[in-house]
Amino acid sequence: MDISRRDLLKLSAIVGGSGLVSKWGFDLKPAYAASQQLKISNAKEFKTVCPYCAVGCGAIAYVHGSGGLNTVNSITHIEGDPDSPVNGGTLCPKGAAQMQLAQSPRLEESPLYRPAGSSEWEKVDWDWAMNWFARKFKDSRDATFVEKDTEGRTVNRCEGIGWVGSATVANEDAYLITKTMRSLGLVYVDHQARI
Ligand code: SF4
Repeated sequence: MDISRRDLLKLSAIVGGSGLVSKWGFDLKPAYAASQQLKISNAKEFKTVCPYCAVGCGAIAYVHGSGGLNTVNSITHIEGDPDSPVNGGTLCPKGAAQMQLAQSPRLEESPLYRPAGSSEWEKVDWDWAMNWFARKFKDSRDATFVEKDTEGRTVNRCEGIGWVGSATVANEDAYLITKTMRSLGLVYVDHQARI
């Protein structure tokens, strides 16, 4: 049966005003009832913790999909966990957008590299990026490492590299990154969330 847009609009009007029986005789009550359900009504709830900062707000992720071969689990909604003593169901704007960490269409899946002088970003693989990074880091540290200050005091610090942490790393990652950078002599260590 072909249903034109005009027919569909008529159908909507009929549904709204005639006891949910279409002009073709269908019982539309089940479809109407389904349309009134919340989008999370058939989802599974998973308690989780916002990964963005050390406040550690509790959150509930609603996941659709059975996990079977023919379905793909997907998060349909994330909200603050009202049982959490930390945030009592609230989330800050960043935490409220945390489902984008899992399934934003804008997520990059590989490192991007922009050569000096270029205006274009190029996709590179992780091995290439890590090798490039390690080489640059070593060269910069060697070139800018200061063993003694102008007063002759031993300082053993690297003044040529700054490290800015990300609010999307977990607390444990942030701890390890800070320890690593300090052990390499970096003094300019900061965090994106403070800027
Ligand atoms: S919701 Fe906001 S305040 Fe709470 S942990 Fe996430 S980023 Fe931090």
